[in-house]
Amino acid sequence: MESLRKLDYELTILRPDDIVSSQLIAIRSNIANKTVKDILMNLAYDSSLGVRYIIFCNNPDKDMVHAFEADTPKELKNLLKSTQHICSECGYPLDKDDIKIVFVKKEVQVHY
Ligand SMILES: [Zn+2]
Repeated sequence: MESLRKLDYELTILRPDDIVSSQLIAIRSNIANKTVKDILMNLAYDSSLGVRYIIFCNNPDKDMVHAFEADTPKELKNLLKSTQHICSECGYPLDKDDIKIVFVKKEVQVHY
């Protein structure tokens, strides 16, 4: 129960447009990453959170790795198609086996 309170707190302190990974929340709330991901996915389904997909290039120099974002799986697919899986910045392949899913806090709509 304490863990769930922590998770709730972590989500509450997010401001609109803040980005968070399930891994970070899992560490902070001490809940299994998979469970956190399930909860966040449900919130995304409820439209409380937005989902964003991030793909990285395979540049062997860690400081030179580039990230590309997509808001939907379709957008991600289009990105891969238009770049032919090649980083437009450095020419290394995009690593489609390591796509990171992050969650974005949405502006809360208040109805009176
Ligand atoms: Zn690159």
